[in-house]
Amino acid sequence: MIGGFGDAEVFSFHATKFLNCLEGGAVVTNDGALAQKIRLMRNFGFAAHNRVDSIGLNGKLNEISAAMGLTNLESIADFISINLRNYKQYESELADLEGVKLLAYSDNERSNYQYIVLEIDEGETGVNRDQLIEMLRMENVLARHHFYPACHQAEPYRSLYPHAHLFLPRTERVAARVMVLPTGQAITQKDVCVICDILRTALRNADIIRKRLGKMPEARCQDRLAETFRSRRKLG
Ligand SMILES: *Cc1c(COP(=O)(O)O)cnc(C)c1O
Repeated sequence: MIGGFGDAEVFSFHATKFLNCLEGGAVVTNDGALAQKIRLMRNFGFAAHNRVDSIGLNGKLNEISAAMGLTNLESIADFISINLRNYKQYESELADLEGVKLLAYSDNERSNYQYIVLEIDEGETGVNRDQLIEMLRMENVLARHHFYPACHQAEPYRSLYPHAHLFLPRTERVAARVMVLPTGQAITQKDVCVICDILRTALRNADIIRKRLGKMPEARCQDRLAETFRSRRKLG
């Protein structure tokens, strides 16, 4: 179960997360002394009204965020079923797209189905992950590069462990090929249809996309590409 790993686990309740409090998060631990230390840190290190025992920060969850979190907790089952519905639809609509692999959730495990993760094999699709994301963005679909860059490619690890990439060839390979598609309560079945349609059209026109994205100055390229793309989508 989540929440029991290591000395402590940190959860984010940021607005983009499965369970959100608008902002904020939580640390869980079964180490009483560590819990006490973190409680002090959360409130400027104040051990009493007139006593400060440690350094700290203002990390208190405000009332409105707490209320948002409690309200969302009540709806968790709905969130999961909507995510599952979207995932199943993506699964069936993307099944025939060569070079696009949807990360499969196991039926034997419980999941919140929060992420629709695709792995793009450029050798088969003719366009790479970054080009596909750019293409989707031109059509107002906010696909993301998650989870990229990998931890070792970001500071402070990049400077602390400059040779880490030598030990992480698979991480680097996957990080360059993955992207996530929109899901959640705001995404309807119609939206999933449209997004999959855009992906299909993009792959069918991979050669044009590659050429245009590569050659033109960016602004002009985007206009021209979006134009071509829309007319081709109309034709199917
Ligand atoms: C959300 C998220 C973060 C950032 O969490 P915040 O609460 O927004 O600071 C970092 N890493 C991963 C993998 C995340 O999903």
